[in-house]
Amino acid sequence: MSQSAQVPLTVVVVGSLNVDLVVGLDRMPNEGESVLGDTLERHAGGKGLNQAIAAARLAAPVRLLGAVGDDESGAWLRALVRADQVDDTFVATVPGPSGTALIEVDARGLNRIIVVPGANGHVSAAAVSADIRAMSGVGVVMTNGEVPLAVSRAALAAGRAIGARTMLNPAPVLDYREHLVDVDILVPNEHEAAAMSGLPTRTDAEARAAAQYFSSQGVANVVITRGASGAIWSSPAGIADVASFAVDAIDTVAAGDAFCGGLAAALAHGYAFADALKWASAAGALAVTTKGASPSLPAIAAIQDLLSARPVK
Ligand code: ADP
Repeated sequence: MSQSAQVPLTVVVVGSLNVDLVVGLDRMPNEGESVLGDTLERHAGGKGLNQAIAAARLAAPVRLLGAVGDDESGAWLRALVRADQVDDTFVATVPGPSGTALIEVDARGLNRIIVVPGANGHVSAAAVSADIRAMSGVGVVMTNGEVPLAVSRAALAAGRAIGARTMLNPAPVLDYREHLVDVDILVPNEHEAAAMSGLPTRTDAEARAAAQYFSSQGVANVVITRGASGAIWSSPAGIADVASFAVDAIDTVAAGDAFCGGLAAALAHGYAFADALKWASAAGALAVTTKGASPSLPAIAAIQDLLSARPVK
């Protein structure tokens, strides 16, 4: 793969920032019952934060648009993204709590999760639209479903208007039908692709047919990610497999976010789409080799090592 000599364009990420509070406990309480937890951990999460950090670690200039609350968590999340060189100028501070996920994990490893969108539910579509339209030098505008639909819709339209490539990671699955007209790159995992298309995606042939369904809806590039099986890429040039890298999977959290961030960063660096998908695949593979979300997002040197050293499955 040839190295790009260009100055990278900016990756704009419009999405969520969350605090994950994880309680480890022996067994879940019954209704009305109190139990003692064993461990309590705080992690940064949210697809916006993860995807922004993923792209920034691959040396792309990254600007995050979203919102945190005026609480201690908000200041903590802001400091974390800044520490990874993500520009947080357009992360608003709004009254009330930051987005929070309350996660209980019992001794069997089963979990229960309550997500409180908090500030993520108060991102302003008008502000996102105006902010993006005033930007220049943007290569990719990437968004997801953890901000209100009007916000992701506005982000994609504004990205289109300024000539950036627009990318939607449709997670969680919502009604994105009105979004698709402004999407250049749609990146669902196989479950999201199945839910959105109403088609099965279990086998290779099924995943290809689902990718072609989205192509028939007018989306130029459809990338359906399939965990250890890699991904399927459908474009006007045809349909292709994106090979996965053989790694020891420890924790699959944030693989999709690493993949999306890797794809956006590589496109911002000026790589051709097929090469950018290799970066994405390497980023996704490396993310599953380490526990956690942001701690598992790889740095550019690790991607380059994997791309040059490892045979692809
Ligand atoms: P999500 O996290 O959204 O469910 P996937 O599980 O499909 O997304 O993973 C995204 C991408 O990360 C895959 O397409 C693949 O390139 C890479 N990946 C995920 N799991 C593995 C794995 N076990 N081995 C190698 N690559 C993986």
